[in-house]
Amino acid sequence: MMHAEAMPTDPSMPAVFVSHGAPTLALDDVPAHGFLAGLGRALGRPRAIVVVSAHWEAGEVRVTAAPRPATIHDFFGFPAPLYEIRYPAPGAVDLAGEIVELLAAAGYAATLDPERGLDHGAWVPLSLMYPDADVPVLQVSINPERSPAHHWRLGRVLCALRASGVLVLGSGSMTHNLQDFRLRRDAVNAPVEPYAEEFTEWFAGHLADRDLDALLAYRERAPAAARAHPTDEHLLPLYVALGAAGVSWSAERLHHGFMHGAIAMDCYLFRSVRAQAPAADVNHDNLGESHAF
Ligand code: ZN
Repeated sequence: MMHAEAMPTDPSMPAVFVSHGAPTLALDDVPAHGFLAGLGRALGRPRAIVVVSAHWEAGEVRVTAAPRPATIHDFFGFPAPLYEIRYPAPGAVDLAGEIVELLAAAGYAATLDPERGLDHGAWVPLSLMYPDADVPVLQVSINPERSPAHHWRLGRVLCALRASGVLVLGSGSMTHNLQDFRLRRDAVNAPVEPYAEEFTEWFAGHLADRDLDALLAYRERAPAAARAHPTDEHLLPLYVALGAAGVSWSAERLHHGFMHGAIAMDCYLFRSVRAQAPAADVNHDNLGESHAF
């Protein structure tokens, strides 16, 4: 029998996690800016994009359903040109309804939000990845009151969409300590804080090892987890993207770098692997019993 590593990956659109950094990523000439500018071409054109952004928190799962979502400038005190950027992508109303049905079937309370536009966690990376703004986009909310395992399972529900060319895009930050950011706010290329590098490499190692149990327990197990993420809303989108790759997955680190010495800009691509290991499926599907929501 072949090992999972040797099996072909699925032809579906992959799931991706991007670090969106400070909003100035849209303007700053930093490596992550150039990387994201090439990522859309590398991925190809999706049928639609489902963004799970750190900047939309809700108790129940909310799904945007505006036909022409507005560009939300949900930040303060940044350079004026940032507030002039618009990302006029069409919405994806039918897909939003489909997602609410999928979520409801999986036991999630989910509702459509026909008013909400795109926050900067969505439009900053998308304006670089797909600058023509011609791919339909919607957003799905996160709930920081819930665990990484909860968000991983949410991603599992979205997994089904990838086969029809939908890109599931988690948008957060590999590390996100705003106090450390503010100390270096005027130094986008400041020396990297060792703790941020250490945390980032711990995560990279456990993704490479496909150690889902360790990843889901990052807060207890990863070095400097509480400093890297004083609150974990910027990491939760990664778990949704990871879940969207299915129970047998592979992770590829596409980008590694920092802004302001403390904001890690890592980006990952997740794919399903056609593993022949049903036992692993059972273990992962039973996470509800072993991990608190
Ligand atoms: Zn953010």
